[in-house]
Amino acid sequence: QSAGGAYGLESVVRHTYERARHDISGELAAYIPELARVDPERFGIAAISVEGELVGVGDVEVPFTIQSISKALAYCLALEALGREKVLAHVGVEPSGDAFNAIVFDPTTNRPYNPMVNAGAITVSGLIAGAYGGEAFEMLMDRFSAAAGRRLDIDETVYRSEAETGHRNRGIAHLLKSAGALDADVDATVDLYFRQCSILVTASDLARMGATLANIGENPLTRATVFGVEAVRNTLSVMFTSGMYDFAGNWAFDVGVPAKSGVGGGILGVVNRQLGIGTYSPRLDAKGNSVRGIAAFRELTEELGLHIFDPT
Ligand code: GLN
Repeated sequence: QSAGGAYGLESVVRHTYERARHDISGELAAYIPELARVDPERFGIAAISVEGELVGVGDVEVPFTIQSISKALAYCLALEALGREKVLAHVGVEPSGDAFNAIVFDPTTNRPYNPMVNAGAITVSGLIAGAYGGEAFEMLMDRFSAAAGRRLDIDETVYRSEAETGHRNRGIAHLLKSAGALDADVDATVDLYFRQCSILVTASDLARMGATLANIGENPLTRATVFGVEAVRNTLSVMFTSGMYDFAGNWAFDVGVPAKSGVGGGILGVVNRQLGIGTYSPRLDAKGNSVRGIAAFRELTEELGLHIFDPT
């Protein structure tokens, strides 16, 4: 069954948008001034099928920083560049049940729990920085852009702010280094991490990136091969179990699709072999997930029967 006409994708997305848009609960991220300054009213939902059908409602072309959603894409690229064994030797695939910025490693391995929380993502940035050196950020930018199907940009002001205030992340990097999880230089690693978090995307970009993952690595609109098949499979698995921080269990239960959120207000969701979904709404709940984004995903997957274990 196709994700498009057969489901009435457009009318469901519209309906979902109308139902969710009145919820103004939650708070903007405020750990750097730039994030606290965005317009809290923005709300957009975009969906793209692997056949290339595209639906967008609301603020789907408004740019915001990708933040933690970069963790999923960077992990996929690291798996591809370095191979599964090497990456698994540095970062696990176990849900942590802790907040995204928790300072905690898996006690049995002395490695970060998974690549979707800061400790694991910083380790992955270190692997990429080690493999690509001075070209690391260019490589990430090229591949993120290929997944989005257009040339992306970085928000320099957010990047500088992240770098100036990121003491906790720098602290995590030092602990990773002392635990032996991180081989690369600490400064180069956190610099790459801050840069990748500061890449500007829109809800439409997230939907296209999601559709690229749903289409096992080939961008359905440009036909470019962006990610390897095996890396996509492994990345979606970790997104399913750990993509929504310490809300991941509830998300898997209720929404039932692999996803990744960021404190910029975006959520990227992947309906395997069918659909990429991107939402943007910057008010966050206490765990750092977009309030209206969660509401939209709940409604969409319910209405369209997209939960991974739905019978049809
Ligand atoms: N830049 C943020 C940080 O590292 C990203 C966190 C997030 O999106 N959850 O703290």
